[in-house]
Amino acid sequence: MKTIPVHYRILVGMLIGVIFGTIVQLAGISPETIAAINVWVKPVGDIFLRLIFMMVIPLIFCALIVGTGEFSDLKNLRRIGIRTLIYTVCVSIISVIIGITMVSVFKPGSGIPEESRQKLVSQYADKLKTITETASNTPQRSVADVLISIVPRNPLEDMVNAFNPAYRGGGIMAVMFFALMIGIALISVKSEKTEAFRNAIEGFYEVIMKIIGMAMELAPFGVASLLFVLISTTGWDVMMALGKYVLVVIAALALHQFGTYSLLLKFLGNKSPIEFFKQTDEVMLTAFSTSSSNATLPTAIKAAHDKLKLPKRVSNFVLTVGSTANQNGTALFEGITILFLAQCFHIDLSLTQQIMVVVISILAGIGTAGVPGGSLPVLAIILVSLGIPAEAIGIIIGVDRVLDMCRTVINVSGDLTAAVVISHWETKSTTTLTT
Ligand code: ASP
Repeated sequence: MKTIPVHYRILVGMLIGVIFGTIVQLAGISPETIAAINVWVKPVGDIFLRLIFMMVIPLIFCALIVGTGEFSDLKNLRRIGIRTLIYTVCVSIISVIIGITMVSVFKPGSGIPEESRQKLVSQYADKLKTITETASNTPQRSVADVLISIVPRNPLEDMVNAFNPAYRGGGIMAVMFFALMIGIALISVKSEKTEAFRNAIEGFYEVIMKIIGMAMELAPFGVASLLFVLISTTGWDVMMALGKYVLVVIAALALHQFGTYSLLLKFLGNKSPIEFFKQTDEVMLTAFSTSSSNATLPTAIKAAHDKLKLPKRVSNFVLTVGSTANQNGTALFEGITILFLAQCFHIDLSLTQQIMVVVISILAGIGTAGVPGGSLPVLAIILVSLGIPAEAIGIIIGVDRVLDMCRTVINVSGDLTAAVVISHWETKSTTTLTT
């Protein structure tokens, strides 16, 4: 079993989950029996996800310190930071424009009849309540507040709350800031003791990667469980009712994944897109099955180092920050969904509001947590600010998990593409780099 590469085993796990989930759906088994089966199946997927999440905070902490510590001076780090920021904003704009163009051309929201709309909203009333509660407990924060919260008052508090959607602090971004500060200080203080500290962190980093490797052995089973639960409990009638919307989202994501990223890789990263997609297949499968950029971060870091052969200091920085702040799939999805829901409710957005949607979607891509369903509370806040009822989200909740799986793949591929491009720029602009 060990000799079969892990991505094949994950693929088999996915197939098993999909096939058995479909059989259970088609066999007409009652929802109560399916729920009883899932009591036993679900924990396998949950344990897998928790094992990966268990390592995410320590990984972010060590990866950024190790990565930053490899810079010879602060000038190089600043240059990479600025390049990453400009790149992220530009590529996010492209993703949102693709999404908004597709939704305006195909108008998936205008054909949904009033009664299906109401049925969908009432069917997901419970889930909707949790999301709108999270959103309404979230006081509107100014840009200044958000920026301030990135500097943690107590980093441990931010670590503890990193995956808590209702947390008002900087969360995972604050953890990154803390690690970056330590990394930056390490560049400037070079003594025997700081070397010992750096070695200890590097040792811990290796241990983390080993644990993640062990957790990934569970991936085929975890993935089979996650997909079985998803397929066996998805209401396929909902999927059919929203078919046009689902297709528009998936087509736009595919266009960005295979169009935009391929062009960026070829022309800015000097990398063959086909080779890139082959070398990152395990990462895509992990993103697809976990629906979480943060949970996929360890696999992405490993692939960047072992397969794409990118310099650690660039890839650790770009991938770690990108797992939260560079989410093109999410930005594209938010843009489409806002306009789709406005179409459903026959709300005509003015030009200014449409421009606002573009800007907000880009910011949402930067500010959404890389966890399953991370977009939804953000979406609820945006809808309200545009005068669309937050309950509108109820319409898409039933199909969100499937779309989440797809947009997470695009989010993670976007981080890896950014890492390839920025590494290439770095190798071009510096000659004395070591990996
Ligand atoms: N699940 C996504 C991710 O982790 C975030 C979202 O769009 O909900 O990348």
